[in-house]
Amino acid sequence: MSVTGSCEVCLTETVEHTCDRCGNLVCERHFDQTTGFCSECTTEMSGGPEPQEEPPADTDTDTHIHRF
Ligand SMILES: [Zn+2]
Ligand SMILES: [Zn+2]
Repeated sequence: MSVTGSCEVCLTETVEHTCDRCGNLVCERHFDQTTGFCSECTTEMSGGPEPQEEPPADTDTDTHIHRF
């Protein structure tokens, strides 16, 4: 793995930060200075890629709606 100056996320040329978790080189836009992690690690640690779905409503008996 060669260390060159390109963001692991958007492949921009200007990178000035290194993720303290996965070690990826990221640009300023994809680096969270608060945590010191890249945007992917920050997103992964803040709940994951899957959004929370609303609880299934079991009120409609006349219309069949696909679950999930
Ligand atoms: Zn970037
Ligand atoms: Zn990272």
